[in-house]
Amino acid sequence: MSAEKKRVPAVEGWFTLDPEKPQLLGTRCTSCQSYFFPKESLYCRNPACAGTEFAEVPLSRTGRIWSFTNAGYQPPPPYVPADPFVPFAIAAVELEEERMVVLGQVAAGTGVEDLSVGMEVELVLETLYEDDASEYLVWKWKPVAH
Ligand SMILES: [Zn+2]
Repeated sequence: MSAEKKRVPAVEGWFTLDPEKPQLLGTRCTSCQSYFFPKESLYCRNPACAGTEFAEVPLSRTGRIWSFTNAGYQPPPPYVPADPFVPFAIAAVELEEERMVVLGQVAAGTGVEDLSVGMEVELVLETLYEDDASEYLVWKWKPVAH
């Protein structure tokens, strides 16, 4: 083993660090079974539900692009602005099983011209930034090769 950098999440507890099959971590209301990401843990956002108990659940690794855009502006945290700023694509993806839409940056090397609505994508982890000791990871959406 060389002095490899430690892989740590840029935001704690939002996804697993499995290098092969990472998953986002959400919560599910124990009353109405609605899924939430980012995690909801205080009260259920379903107006018809009074649930206050939530279970942490790993979410689908795959989904289909519902909408996408080219980000021509600096992204909000946890994304760290590149200097100089490099435009990148953002996709809103409807998760395969939960049918909820999760936003994410599109994997490096994929631009808006490569994307289309309905395209199948999977969750990957890429390095957001690094320091001397660690690589800080964030989730991205990557088109599934068929
Ligand atoms: Zn509920």
